[in-house]
Amino acid sequence: MNATACRGCGRSGLSLVLDLGQMPLANAILAPEDLARPEPRYPLALAYCPACWLVQITETVAPELLFREYTYFSSVSDEFVEHARAIADRLIVARHLGPSSLVVELASNDGYLLQHYAGAGVPVLGIDPARNIAEVATARGVPTLAEFFTRDLADELARSGRTADVVHANNVIAHVPDLNGFVAGIARILKPSGLAVIETPYLRELVERLEFDTIYHEHVFYHSLTALSTVFERAGLGVVDVERIPVHGGSLRVFATRSGAGEPSEAVRSLLAGEAAAGLGNLAYYADFAGRVEALGRELRALLVDLRSQGHTVAAYGAAAKGAVLLNAFGIGPDLISFVADRSPHKQGHLMPGVHIPIVDSEQLVARKPEECLLLAWNFADEIMAQQAEYRRLGGKFIIPGPKLTLV
Ligand code: ZN
Repeated sequence: MNATACRGCGRSGLSLVLDLGQMPLANAILAPEDLARPEPRYPLALAYCPACWLVQITETVAPELLFREYTYFSSVSDEFVEHARAIADRLIVARHLGPSSLVVELASNDGYLLQHYAGAGVPVLGIDPARNIAEVATARGVPTLAEFFTRDLADELARSGRTADVVHANNVIAHVPDLNGFVAGIARILKPSGLAVIETPYLRELVERLEFDTIYHEHVFYHSLTALSTVFERAGLGVVDVERIPVHGGSLRVFATRSGAGEPSEAVRSLLAGEAAAGLGNLAYYADFAGRVEALGRELRALLVDLRSQGHTVAAYGAAAKGAVLLNAFGIGPDLISFVADRSPHKQGHLMPGVHIPIVDSEQLVARKPEECLLLAWNFADEIMAQQAEYRRLGGKFIIPGPKLTLV
């Protein structure tokens, strides 16, 4: 489905910001036998609404294709679970939560967050469309509905008296094409005194740190506080507080209540003023970003072509979605990169989406000693270079693509 009108305010006249071309689904790594079948590709382009500042991609892929068998288990990351425990402990005290309260989480994954409330005796309800993950959560004591959260589901819950003191929605509000329906659903299940806590990657971090490779079909929206506030107001919610947190390359944690139930904090006023001053309401801000992405693509390709012409073998590291975006957006295929090393046994023996570079185990970096290795997971540059110290000791060099192309 191609959006010609803004998914937030409904006005036409979206401005195209950055066109990343025809892109396969960034998480859809291929088995060798998949090469015999056509690989679906969808346009991937970023647009900006001059009326409400909402940044969004133009083409929506059906959520059923993306989220029904999700393979990312939140509890795999210790840091993530600790981050979840901290906010749960804090809100149990601040909101006086107890046995007669209810905490609901949308996109609750494997129960990594709600388990902390449940453990403190606070009733919980998880909602997550990935059936395999919902089963895991329910088994660990976090009752979970395997459904997409919609306005209709919210109605059903509210009518059966299941309204919430706290609603969490972490890393999901960027994924749902029906943004207005989703937020109206939150308002519907919130008690009059309830609090919604929403975490989502922050647009300013994306633009300023050149994290263009987090743009892919699973992420429909790239939120600023200004644009989100407008969406919330439309649903009868008001933003009362905000924090910047170091999750997923830099995120916002937004606190909202029913309109009129609270006043915006100083942090809210100052972040909104900062967005206006940085130019988030001007197309020039986004045009500058697009120019920097295109320049990086030209520079990186030129470097790889040059290394290959010197007879070097160049590998890459990190077969995650963002790597697939970078390789496809810049047209970097097996002619320039011999293999992608990755620690996940589930990915080894497969091929990168679109460009079809083979994925091998990370030991191959030391075994095959390519002269250079392009770091696709450059958000974890320090961690990976520490793990792969042996490769560097043997003379291997890492190419770090962003935010500025460097060879170390
Ligand atoms: Zn709009």
